[in-house]
Amino acid sequence: MHLKSLTVKGFKSFASATTLRLEPGITCVVGPNGSGKSNVVDAIAWVLGEQGAKALRGGKMEDVIFAGTAGRAPLGRAEVTLTIDNNDGALPIDYTEVSITRRMFRDGASEYEINGSSCRLLDIQELLSDSGIGREMHIIVGQGRLDAMLHAKPEDRRSFIEEAAGVLKHRKRKEKAIRKLDAMQVNLNRLNDLTAELR
Ligand code: ATP
Repeated sequence: MHLKSLTVKGFKSFASATTLRLEPGITCVVGPNGSGKSNVVDAIAWVLGEQGAKALRGGKMEDVIFAGTAGRAPLGRAEVTLTIDNNDGALPIDYTEVSITRRMFRDGASEYEINGSSCRLLDIQELLSDSGIGREMHIIVGQGRLDAMLHAKPEDRRSFIEEAAGVLKHRKRKEKAIRKLDAMQVNLNRLNDLTAELR
């Protein structure tokens, strides 16, 4: 599995549709200060489902949409598509090439697609969860990230290791099931109260 291409349109400084082809091996992005190198990395984090504006170096999520320049009007939506080569079947889906798209409008609504079909963010998270490119971003090591990891609280470090080991998905499912069980218990208690009142 490797990242094949990244297409950005209306995302941060990329007003027009721009496609970067990524070959297996090392790709270097070079350019002057402020030319948008980090925005490329932000685009990868964003399309993979990043929900924190701060992680994308903005104040609010809307800041990822092209805000306009002296010569160009602001745009109403941002769109990023990341295409992954899946010839080795690392992603549990029957396609040799997987394209993940995220689109966001100024009202804050986000849309997600896998190979052109609408899906939920959860579908993308589940698809990627065992591949090492999940939300916790082991593929992106930002400035200061190593330092933060070394100084992280034990529980934060544990969740990092859990995701790397592929158990986070199961833990999340377990937590969801426990929440459902708790809600069911509340309903049962209520039912028992009502039955007692009717007796
Ligand atoms: P450096 O080498 O200094 O780290 P860089 O090449 O990584 O710089 P980025 O931080 O990726 O540069 O890009 C910064 C540029 O992106 C700035 O010029 C900023 O104005 C522009 N930019 C960021 N968000 C938006 C937006 N929403 N709309 C338009 N331009 C934006």
